[in-house]
Amino acid sequence: RTAPGYRGRFAPSPTGLLHAGSLVAALASWLDARAHRGRWLVRIEDVDTPRCVPGADPSILQQLERLGLQPDEPPWWQSLRGDAYAAALERLRLHGMAYPCGCTRKEIEAALVAQGRAPAKHGELVYPGTCRHGLHGRPARAWRVRCGTDESPVAIDWHDRRLGPQHQDLTHAVGDFVVRRADGLWAYQLAVVVDDAAQRITDVVRGEDLADNTPRQIHLQRLLGLPLPRYLHTPLVLAPDGDKLSKQNGAAPLRLETPADVLQALRAAAATLGLGSVATASTGSREAWLADATAAWARVSGLA
Ligand code: GLU
Repeated sequence: RTAPGYRGRFAPSPTGLLHAGSLVAALASWLDARAHRGRWLVRIEDVDTPRCVPGADPSILQQLERLGLQPDEPPWWQSLRGDAYAAALERLRLHGMAYPCGCTRKEIEAALVAQGRAPAKHGELVYPGTCRHGLHGRPARAWRVRCGTDESPVAIDWHDRRLGPQHQDLTHAVGDFVVRRADGLWAYQLAVVVDDAAQRITDVVRGEDLADNTPRQIHLQRLLGLPLPRYLHTPLVLAPDGDKLSKQNGAAPLRLETPADVLQALRAAAATLGLGSVATASTGSREAWLADATAAWARVSGLA
């Protein structure tokens, strides 16, 4: 019931303020940490600097404070963690598991067509392996991690606490993926794995849109000899167009002006999480609501 050493986290990218969709992941990770009597951390994932909005990070922390979701330790900023990511890449390189790649996107597409393979799948390309055996005199652009070959593919089987058993053929669904980008920025996959381990995270609770990133992260954890956390991917809030609610399709920042706004935002997130009883409760303070929600989460998750 009480997992000793439970440590959870919420890891927003400061590309804008929290909205109804991101609150679901924030609330679920907080409730899971509370229900386990564990600790809850916040990590600002600001590695993709061109996509970050200046000032979004303090605003997100302020939104969390209004919601009553207080981190148990000072937040981390990934922009300050470059040395740790460089050390991880160096380790992969020394083990022959990462290599520099000189390919542009155009070249990758052309190579895929030449191999008779369909190039683009949701904008992500399965790398054709051009630079796997060296750059052939071309300058290095990105760094990639090896993900098996046709002869010995890497398949990842993992368990999600909500979705159940999961499987991905990493070699053919993803291929050798980028851990350091051509623009010198660290890729999310590497940063998240290094920091989850450095912060001793035992349970990753986040949106279901990230579920298909998990096999890449497990592959990196194995290569780097890091412990594997448990995973729980939460239901997504959908936009009117049926896509995942996001800043791109116009998700409005949470409105948290009054205590009633705060409770309404929390209730909506609870409804998405299937916490019916607290989703409709209309009275009480924020603290009382959060305590009820924690009890409801524990029941629904089979912890109580
Ligand atoms: N920073 C990622 C995002 O906001 C979440 C990363 C994670 O929870 O693993 O989409």
